[in-house]
Amino acid sequence: QLSARLPLSDIPELNRLGASFNRMAASLEGVEARRRELIGDMTHELRTPLTVVRGYLEELAEGEIEPSAEIYQRLTKETKRLERLVNDLQELSKAEAGYLPINIQPMNLYPLLESLVEKFSDQLLEDGPVLRSEFPSQLPLVLADIDRTEQVLVNLLGNAVRYTSKGAITLRAWTEGSKLWLEVADTGIGIASKDLPNVFERFWRADQSRDRHSGGTGIGLTISRRLVELQGGQIQVESELGVGSKFRFFLPLV
Ligand code: ADP
Repeated sequence: QLSARLPLSDIPELNRLGASFNRMAASLEGVEARRRELIGDMTHELRTPLTVVRGYLEELAEGEIEPSAEIYQRLTKETKRLERLVNDLQELSKAEAGYLPINIQPMNLYPLLESLVEKFSDQLLEDGPVLRSEFPSQLPLVLADIDRTEQVLVNLLGNAVRYTSKGAITLRAWTEGSKLWLEVADTGIGIASKDLPNVFERFWRADQSRDRHSGGTGIGLTISRRLVELQGGQIQVESELGVGSKFRFFLPLV
């Protein structure tokens, strides 16, 4: 019974023990409530693609629809979505439980930024946005986990590509005091100001139908924020609907 509380006593030692037990019980209850909430959210997210897949399979089995390339494409798309969800959920649950191992070392991020620009340039379509780099080749060392930093930048660049159909995506880096700021700016669809406070919430997507179409899971930014904070940094967003978005985070300089 997690909600058990010890009555406080007249004996000071017992009183302190009782108070500290009550604090532990309250903190366990918090963990338990968050765990239940996470499982509830996950179940909800997994159910949607499963329902679609099952619906098609039943209709195919009953002969209500004819097997066609289109049906198989839709089944593949939903299955891929499930796969992405399961992968993201695994990361998310590790992050929420505080089990993401992190290896912080003095790092020069320049080679990473260069390789990301190269990798993402290859993904952009002919008539889509261009990718620009605005960072000096001499970057001061930061205290960071290089793989986790890459994960955050891949997520931000991936979002920029996904939500931008023309204009430019710009990867920037600059120093300010004891911080190195990294920014991914885009000229894409943008985010309404009323939605901005929600973007880092798990499973949040701007517009359900649109993002179901784009295949997003609404988990990437939640994980990114956690990864930045684990490295002692902070992530921020600035955006205007129809104009574009800027996601930036800082890492501490050595
Ligand atoms: P996902 O992109 O997988 O849905 P994220 O957590 O990365 O999940 O993003 C959450 C939501 O925030 C997205 O579904 C989208 O609505 C919005 N969003 C994120 N990045 C951008 C961006 N660069 N431009 C416009 N909207 C964005």
